[in-house]
Amino acid sequence: MAEVLKGKPVADAMKEELKQKVADLKGRGITPTLGIIRVGARPDDLFYEGGAKKTCDAVDMAYQVFEYPEDISQEDFEKAVADVGSNKAINGILMFAPLPKHLDEKKIRTLIPVEKDVDCLTLGGAAKIFADDPTGFPPCTPTACMDMLHFYNIPIKGKRCVVLGRSLVVGKPVAMLLLREHGTVTICHSRTQDLPSVCQEAEILIAAVGRAKMVKGNFVKPGQIVIDVGINEDPDNPGKYCGDVDFAEVEPIVEKITPVPAGVGSVTTAVLCKQTIMACELQNA
Ligand code: NAP
Repeated sequence: MAEVLKGKPVADAMKEELKQKVADLKGRGITPTLGIIRVGARPDDLFYEGGAKKTCDAVDMAYQVFEYPEDISQEDFEKAVADVGSNKAINGILMFAPLPKHLDEKKIRTLIPVEKDVDCLTLGGAAKIFADDPTGFPPCTPTACMDMLHFYNIPIKGKRCVVLGRSLVVGKPVAMLLLREHGTVTICHSRTQDLPSVCQEAEILIAAVGRAKMVKGNFVKPGQIVIDVGINEDPDNPGKYCGDVDFAEVEPIVEKITPVPAGVGSVTTAVLCKQTIMACELQNA
């Protein structure tokens, strides 16, 4: 039986630390504030927004929601994003993506100032991660994976790490963060040959493929740490969701594993607040 690494204790410990940082900033007359930019009202966006607001409240920081209609024009939305970007009261920006198809998302992203880019939506933000610049903010999910590893005292230095997935949102940035901490990193993708044997070589396996229960018992071996980033509809339990790892098959084999739900996903809004508070500290240094 593996040790199940839950996200809640990680998020709770982080929130305690953040409360203190917010109190210190407020003592200097500064209230760290997250700006949430949302076009339309997609249920997934509203769900994440609700979690983000709750976490902001829990750590006593502020947020402002900037909501726009689904049919907003490119010109009006560019102006709106630029306004939020230059708003001195806003320290960090979360913009829900993808944007509606008629909007040029690539161009809009460039309007977010890099110093407020707390979810790595800009190329400048991504470059900072690639360059190990500590003033850069990785996307919240990769940071949450690293925070899970740190909280549960899992050594990374010199370890063989296999990242399953190469997206800009999860796979690539988490690979960079593992490398920064001296992991020996292999990145897999849809063209990787013999995926099970590559994954079996890992001491730390991060699954971010977006395929329900794809990581089976033959992908793993005893002693491994498995971090499951996936959030998928569970094909076996309609209305529920599951990870990229087949938990029932993998958990009895490996040493430690994160569950889905209640794993990495529970840490992401705390990370969003942490990175906004860091942005605020840097802006007021
Ligand atoms: P994505 O953009 O669809 O990328 C998936 C990656 O997996 C791609 O690199 C793809 O390879 C690779 N892949 C797909 N099928 C594969 C296969 N059969 N064999 C090997 N590799 C395969 O997904 P994402 O945005 O990175 O998200 C990954 C998962 O994390 C999803 O389940 C998503 O819901 C979840 N997620 C969770 C959170 C959270 O807070 N917990 C946040 C974001 C995302 P190619 O590049 O070759 O196509």
